[in-house]
Amino acid sequence: MQLLAQPLNLTLRHTFSTSRSSSSIAENVLVKLRWKNLKGLGEAAPIRFYGQSQKTCLKALERMSKRLAGRDPFELESILTDLRRHFPQEPSAIAAIDLALHDLVGKHLGIPLWRHFGLDPEKTPQTSFTIGIASLDKVVAKIAEAQKYPVLKIKVGVPGDVEIMREIRRLVPKKILRVDANCGWSVKETIDKSRALEKLGVEFIEQPLPPGRNADFKKIKNKIGIPLMTDESSLIPGDIPALRGCVDGINIKLVKCGGIREGLKMIHTARACGLKIMLGCMIESSILISAAAQLAPLVDYADLDGNLLVSDDPFRGARIDKNAKLILPNRPGLGMA
Ligand code: MG
Repeated sequence: MQLLAQPLNLTLRHTFSTSRSSSSIAENVLVKLRWKNLKGLGEAAPIRFYGQSQKTCLKALERMSKRLAGRDPFELESILTDLRRHFPQEPSAIAAIDLALHDLVGKHLGIPLWRHFGLDPEKTPQTSFTIGIASLDKVVAKIAEAQKYPVLKIKVGVPGDVEIMREIRRLVPKKILRVDANCGWSVKETIDKSRALEKLGVEFIEQPLPPGRNADFKKIKNKIGIPLMTDESSLIPGDIPALRGCVDGINIKLVKCGGIREGLKMIHTARACGLKIMLGCMIESSILISAAAQLAPLVDYADLDGNLLVSDDPFRGARIDKNAKLILPNRPGLGMA
């Protein structure tokens, strides 16, 4: 197999801010993997928080490409195990290769991946649409622009966030609201704020505390009435068993775990631990979003809006209907056009 990697810069419709970072361009990486007469597509969204960048990712992919010579895409397990061993710091680059391998497998078989995995495409959840942190004025404008999305995920974790949530609830009394604090709250803050958020009918709170605080999560879970989801605490399959009883569910991101194959492992591990599952994303083109969407019939919640947040997505794949329910493509592999 022959690997080609190149920068994929995506322009955001709005500067996107969380409790940790702010950006207006996503510096992703596009991967093309050639095998026989087929081309598999993959994408990496390097995460600065974990020391990754477009540059480290491209460098890692160049070294990874040498390990793919003479292999074929059906050797997924051995190829990906080898890459995880040699490049533990670059799960996003590994995810790009995992996606391209899966795309090749689906294209060779002539079927979409959801079909290869035996899934029912009707069983996809709705996706939420994410509203980044901003001043109250800007949040109000963003809520107006997000009119067509019935489920909103609001980034919190800044002073005044509960007041902003009250205002949002007033503006959209019927929408499903979720919040993501990106590790920005303390135990006390989480308990106090969750009382107010519960009254506002917020569906769940994502990752209020930093990772490594499972005992504190358990303390919070026993005191609040809103489900607690993780994100930064559940990066790979091995993180999940220790979360049992401490939270209600986990968020899975393909670029954090290393792709579709590890994502599937996470889904099955979480189910065995009695946890709810959400599929999430970074700022991504339709390649990564469609890859995650292939697994969506297996999960409870989806937050696959990365492609909706950019203005120059070069690809088409999974879409949403007027209720923001994910529609899986019928084309082979990832189903990109
Ligand atoms: Mg999150």
